[in-house]
Amino acid sequence: MDDLKGGAPVRTRAHVTGIVQGVGFRPFVWRKAVGLGLAGFVRNDTAGVVLEVEGAPAAVTALLAALHTDAPPLARVDQVRSREVALTGEAGFSVQFSDSTGPRDVLVSPDAATCDACLAEVRDPVDRRFGHVFATCTHCGPRYTIVRDVPYDRQRTTMAGFPLCPSCQAEYDDPGDRRFHAQPLCCPACGPRLALLDADGQPVEGDALGGAADLLRAGGVLAVKGLGGFHLAVLAADEAAVALLRRRKHREDRPFALMVADLPGIRTLCDVDPGEEQLLVARARPILLLRRRIGAAVAPSVAPGQRALGVMLPYTALHHRLLAEVGGPLVMTSGNRSDEPIAYEDGDALQRLSGVADAWLTHDRPIRTRVDDSVVRAVRGRVVPIRRSRGYVPDPLTLPLEARRTVLGCGASLKNTFCLARGRHAFVSHHIGDLDDYSTYGSYLDGIDHLRRLFDLQPVLVAHDLHPDYPSTRYAAELPDVERVAVQHHHAHVAACLVDNGVRGPVIGVALDGSGLGEDGTLWGGEFLLADLVTATRVAHLQPVPLPGGDAATRQPWRMAASYLDAAYGADVPALEVRIRQGRRWDHVLSAAAAGLNAPLSSSAGRLFDAVAAVLGLRDAVTYEGQAAVELEQCADEGETGSYPVRVQGGPILEVPGAELVRAVVQDRLAGASVPIVAARFHNAMADVVIDVCSRLRGAHGLDVVALSGGVFQNALLLGRCLDGLQGAGFEVLTHRQVPCNDGGISLGQVAVAAARDGSAC
Ligand code: ZN
Ligand code: ZN
Ligand code: FE
Repeated sequence: MDDLKGGAPVRTRAHVTGIVQGVGFRPFVWRKAVGLGLAGFVRNDTAGVVLEVEGAPAAVTALLAALHTDAPPLARVDQVRSREVALTGEAGFSVQFSDSTGPRDVLVSPDAATCDACLAEVRDPVDRRFGHVFATCTHCGPRYTIVRDVPYDRQRTTMAGFPLCPSCQAEYDDPGDRRFHAQPLCCPACGPRLALLDADGQPVEGDALGGAADLLRAGGVLAVKGLGGFHLAVLAADEAAVALLRRRKHREDRPFALMVADLPGIRTLCDVDPGEEQLLVARARPILLLRRRIGAAVAPSVAPGQRALGVMLPYTALHHRLLAEVGGPLVMTSGNRSDEPIAYEDGDALQRLSGVADAWLTHDRPIRTRVDDSVVRAVRGRVVPIRRSRGYVPDPLTLPLEARRTVLGCGASLKNTFCLARGRHAFVSHHIGDLDDYSTYGSYLDGIDHLRRLFDLQPVLVAHDLHPDYPSTRYAAELPDVERVAVQHHHAHVAACLVDNGVRGPVIGVALDGSGLGEDGTLWGGEFLLADLVTATRVAHLQPVPLPGGDAATRQPWRMAASYLDAAYGADVPALEVRIRQGRRWDHVLSAAAAGLNAPLSSSAGRLFDAVAAVLGLRDAVTYEGQAAVELEQCADEGETGSYPVRVQGGPILEVPGAELVRAVVQDRLAGASVPIVAARFHNAMADVVIDVCSRLRGAHGLDVVALSGGVFQNALLLGRCLDGLQGAGFEVLTHRQVPCNDGGISLGQVAVAAARDGSAC
């Protein structure tokens, strides 16, 4: 320590930006400074944290280094700017109160799972927080979901209605305490109250948590108020209860997520590798898709037709206690009916979940922002985000260029998000959902308004999809006094992947998805683009086929089978079961398409997967978006390495004849190959197509970086095979790491393209 004391004293002023408020940053600086024997102060300002430290040069240097290396768990230090200033000779180190002048550039932290220190208190019979389900400190607890406004302090959160008791106030005021300036802190004396309401919404006397657990153990459906909304819970091992929940929720097949008490519990249900364990225990506590173990004690109705299970660990003290009381894993699915957004307001939840839930385990801390659980999977050691929401939002992503002006990306339509950006920060919103739903559109408008206020971002540039009928495009069109930028859907997909990897291109962008409007007015979705953040050129694609009935073709994969079989065989279509089942509708739909009635042309890769699923008899109609493709992946035999040849057709733009693939599938099946084998060979053939086309494009254009995007790449089997093949062929392969490859990533791509076209300042 001696070398920290020598030398003539110096004084340094430092400005720290990033996520440094509401995360225990000032007490951390205070502890370090006091420990190093430094004088000075630390305070928040509207752009982050400002500190001045005075003392021995080595001690000052050590403190500045610690800002980067020892910051508290929820902090994210983006930048420290420091300069030497005149000595003041003050004694001691103080924590000062906020300075509320100046521009707002402070980041709000995402919600974080209850930390071990808080949990230990909740489980300690002599602690004053024993059993307290709202335990939180500067390192954990609700944040984004309770913030109403900035600067971030208790009065501007939904904890405003809970004045601190003297004991909590003392913790709040003590820089040496783990709860120093923890805005949501509370205790059993001053915090929110848990309540159990019966099916009529009337309070049930007695121990709320115990009563809730009894109900679950008896096979009932419980609505549970969490961080970002209500869940519906039932015992995961109880088939009758899970089936009951499905019926009441009108959810036929879509898998339910599980919440399991701890890692050993998860290991009894699923195979988990060390990388996956890291994802599970991360503060964000996402739902992770894992391979289900044979014989796992989970009711069949939890995830019909799936070999994967969506699993998460508890993330509030309430969850921990409930799981401990119940003694087994719970289904924890979003509190809604079918495709509505998840309920998060108390009155609304009671109304909307009436008839679904047998009881409500709720409390009186309001939720400001509805935030769904996040969903990820891991493929070949890479994180594959499926839904980015609770625990990740509103952490900004870093743009690989400077946005000169404030940009809003309005997103697409399904699984929508929006994105606000300025400078290097891009704030992608929480998962909003499908904008065609009226109440979802309302939460889209509210979300844009809220984030705009929180981060003081007034968009000047507004980026939107080419599709004129998306609600997000219409929203952009109606905004006054802004400059609009139209960004083609698949360019936005690839651009999002570039941002996700911190690069600007150019790359070979492979965008495989459901569909998006192309520059030629047809629906694209099986695209190879030469792309950077400014431009994208279509250089290869799947050969378009008609979508008979337009949107109906998305809901009824048999229509895609009809379209593809017609393209492959003309009048000589073999008598497959799917065709026999549909009878005269089959011919009717094809003749309508031939007459050009509501049969837009599309190169969609998603619809090709649908066609193959229908040809293999997996399903003629879907109950949720992408279901046929999901089931095709889930049934494929992963050990199978066979494939089908596809002759990519040359020309200025390469074309991939999807109908040839469908013909190969049919012939193989007729020759007696099993459905799992054919499904696997089809996946392998799709991967071969990607590798073949990319290799040709490398030859023609000299690019050896490939970016994979579009919702089809949520398919782990396809993504894994593409990664293996492309890397084997010497490509560098970029995949999504922070935002989803599905349309949840579109808003980020739009923002990046608009900012890049606006002229980079660096
Ligand atoms: Zn904590
Ligand atoms: Zn208290
Ligand atoms: Fe898309």
